[in-house]
Amino acid sequence: MRVQPALSASPAVAQVTPTTVDLTRRYDVLVVGGGNAALCAAISARRSGASVLVLEAAPKFYRGGNTRHTRNMRCAHDSATEILTGPYTEDEFWEDLLRVTGGQTDEELARFMIRESKEILHWIVEQGVRWQPSLGGTLSLGRTNSFFLGGGRAMLNALYLTAERLGVEVVYDAEVVDLDIQDGTFVSARVMHAGSAVDVRAASLVAAAGGFEANIEWLKEHWGEAAENFLIRGTPYNRGSMLKLLLDKGVKPVGDPTQCHAVAIDARAPKFDGGIITRLDCVVFGIVVNKNAQRFYDEGEDIWPKRYAIWGRLVAAQPDQIAYIIFDAPSLELFMPSLYPPVRADTIPELAGKLGLSPEALQETVETFNRAVRPGTFDHTILDDCRTEGLTPPKSHWARAIRTAPFYAYPVRPGITFTYLGTRVNRDARMIMADDRPAANMFSAGEIMAGNVLGKGYAAGIGMTIGSVFGRIAGREAARNARN
Ligand SMILES: Cc1cc2nc3c(=O)[nH]c(=O)nc-3n(C[C@H](O)[C@H](O)[C@H](O)COP(=O)(O)OP(=O)(O)OC[C@H]3O[C@@H](n4cnc5c(N)ncnc54)[C@H](O)[C@@H]3O)c2cc1C
Repeated sequence: MRVQPALSASPAVAQVTPTTVDLTRRYDVLVVGGGNAALCAAISARRSGASVLVLEAAPKFYRGGNTRHTRNMRCAHDSATEILTGPYTEDEFWEDLLRVTGGQTDEELARFMIRESKEILHWIVEQGVRWQPSLGGTLSLGRTNSFFLGGGRAMLNALYLTAERLGVEVVYDAEVVDLDIQDGTFVSARVMHAGSAVDVRAASLVAAAGGFEANIEWLKEHWGEAAENFLIRGTPYNRGSMLKLLLDKGVKPVGDPTQCHAVAIDARAPKFDGGIITRLDCVVFGIVVNKNAQRFYDEGEDIWPKRYAIWGRLVAAQPDQIAYIIFDAPSLELFMPSLYPPVRADTIPELAGKLGLSPEALQETVETFNRAVRPGTFDHTILDDCRTEGLTPPKSHWARAIRTAPFYAYPVRPGITFTYLGTRVNRDARMIMADDRPAANMFSAGEIMAGNVLGKGYAAGIGMTIGSVFGRIAGREAARNARN
């Protein structure tokens, strides 16, 4: 079967412009996925001399999975750069990872990834990606994280352009639906494209097809019916079909299927692909109540972003997986708003009415909270001394009475970013089979193997580090394997 090329480069820049993609030929390296990990692998394999085919399940416009939504990447570096304000040593990166995962990480692999991330800072620029200085505000990542000029989509476009110039072939609307794996050896992948099934053969496979966060049925196996109310922050194409095939066909799993990165996002966001503009940073400025107008967790426990990633899980545990952040006029300008305006009212009972909550219950919750607030000096940039006394749960910092109209609320739901269950790999990004033998010719990179490094928790920007480091290695090793 021959299909039209997925991307026709400008002839002025293209060194290789395929006129057709021949799915019947045997490629050296087949890359499944179309995000950062896949493109890093494809470029790296091609630069190592391999013929490379990329199969992306999404149509061209939606290519690039969750990578489209990203803004930055965390890499170790020994000194300040043009855009990074100071050094971020390997040891400091490791300490950060150790803290956020609570030790649930493969130390050897994680330290190896951190070491390799130093080179990625330069390698990714050689592939056409550009950096920009970090913005200020709540993120405070100017020393540790490099921001993509133009965001994740621009980053991806640069990688696709480089891949295409090098002669990597890409087919969109091409979902891998089955794999022929015999005794740890990849033989072929069955691809649905343009309404037909085609078996594509290659000497090596790189699986870079993301997690299973967009597969609500799979999420329900671990979260129960609550998963129906989850919103998926990224692509609807990360349904975990590759992950499932690989695990079913003997690849060793890594990670806990219930672990994922989940934050509280605006409940009015679309089911999929809402991206970062639906995120809410204002928990610390008010109180958070459930549909019974009851508070359920310390909103002032720690400084954002350290506590930011726990609110997805907290809201997931509430009835109907819905909660409301309630605050008053003095807080309105203190945080980055969501895409949607907050619900606004002149009184707390009126606000409750607009949210569908009991006016009496919300009034009671706010008054009880206000009575417990102790005087202090409000400073949202530090763990200040504004706290409650005699209240369960407490608000440990930034507690200010909610009494100045107008009053505001944001409805929030759990927003799932990505899942951590994955394929076990070694430092060559080579998959490990259930009997602990390395696979003969199968590699994986990115979200699909993130669980090797991230057992739980998250440090901003590490998703892209995992994809770039292991993508680059997977491509190189897959090409080496094909040569041999
Ligand atoms: C809103 C949002 C913001 C984020 N911001 C950041 C950030 O700033 N920094 C950071 O480090 N991380 C961030 N992340 C996490 C980051 O997006 C991921 O860690 C990273 O993009 C993973 O890259 P990947 O290539 O493994 O997967 P993806 O980029 O998700 O790509 C997976 C690809 O596989 C394809 N695919 C799936 N199944 C198949 C199949 N069967 N056949 C063929 N193709 C298939 C999909 O279409 C997709 O193109 C963010 C995530 C979200 C949702």
